[in-house]
Amino acid sequence: MKSLTILTPAYKEARNLPRLAAEIDSLIRTRLAPEGYSVRLLIVNDGSPDDTAEVLADLAGKYPFIDYINLSRNFGKENALLAGIDNADGDAVIIMDSDLQHPVDTIPEMVKYWEEGYDDVYGSRKNRGKESWLRCKLSLAYYNLLQRSTSQEILPNVGDFRLLDRKCIEVLRQLRETQRYNKGLFAWIGFKKKGVPYSTAERAEGESSFNLRRLLSLSLEGISSTTTAPLRFATWMGIIVSFIAFLYLVFVLTKTIIWGEPVRGYPTLLCVILFLGGCQLLAIGIIGEYIARIFAETKQRPPYIVRDKHIR
Ligand code: UDP
Ligand code: MG
Repeated sequence: MKSLTILTPAYKEARNLPRLAAEIDSLIRTRLAPEGYSVRLLIVNDGSPDDTAEVLADLAGKYPFIDYINLSRNFGKENALLAGIDNADGDAVIIMDSDLQHPVDTIPEMVKYWEEGYDDVYGSRKNRGKESWLRCKLSLAYYNLLQRSTSQEILPNVGDFRLLDRKCIEVLRQLRETQRYNKGLFAWIGFKKKGVPYSTAERAEGESSFNLRRLLSLSLEGISSTTTAPLRFATWMGIIVSFIAFLYLVFVLTKTIIWGEPVRGYPTLLCVILFLGGCQLLAIGIIGEYIARIFAETKQRPPYIVRDKHIR
């Protein structure tokens, strides 16, 4: 009998988890169990300050297919997922959000493709839910930029709703970077991929943890963990600016030799100083981002800490 693990990270989802558990319960009874799959639901409580932990204990008592892990504090979704990946033992693992934005009805279709031999069956959003026009445009522009800077394929409308074969899970377990960007990692590992369209629902209860500030920081994380192209950009900027500066130098020298120099030129001087200062700060900032990553990774701290595990 083939086994499936449905893996979901949960942060402040006390009000959504009972509904998710009920939906998965009916999915198992009506679709998955009759086809001969044994299914487990693994929930990683990412240090929620609300009563998610108590709700999980209750649910695990009620539904025998539920396992859960409590992390010692909030480590962020990316690391919570790694905690789940380390503990998921199904032949295939289905990753989804616990706020009911990812429709459970898509799972049987993913499983079907997996049976056909695909290793990474990802959900691809048909719509983007109730998202502001600006956020939608910014995120598309961002994926465009990320794609240009790397040879791995970055898919724009793909989130963390996907089925991964055991092979992929084994590989992901070996990638121990603490500052994780799963979307980049899923692309990096390769394997045979297949998209399944789904429509994003509205978040059932509560609100998204990803505000603009957190999204921006995740975007920087995404770039600095996927590509070193910004360093190359800084190099090119240096080369081009130096070249222009050299031409200008020749121009100024020639002018002075031929016509003399009655001083003046305060505006030009100021512009040049400010522009070069800006370029230098930008380049230092870019280098700093990568040094910060090196700093974080060399400490070799574990990416997450488990408080307790309830796995049957
Ligand atoms: N999540 C988490 N840790 C966090 C923030 C979020 O485990 O620090 C989980 C959350 O419970 C949900 C998923 O990650 O299952 C997606 O979060 P959210 O719905 O807030 O983000 P959005 O859907 O807006 O991208
Ligand atoms: Mg959500």
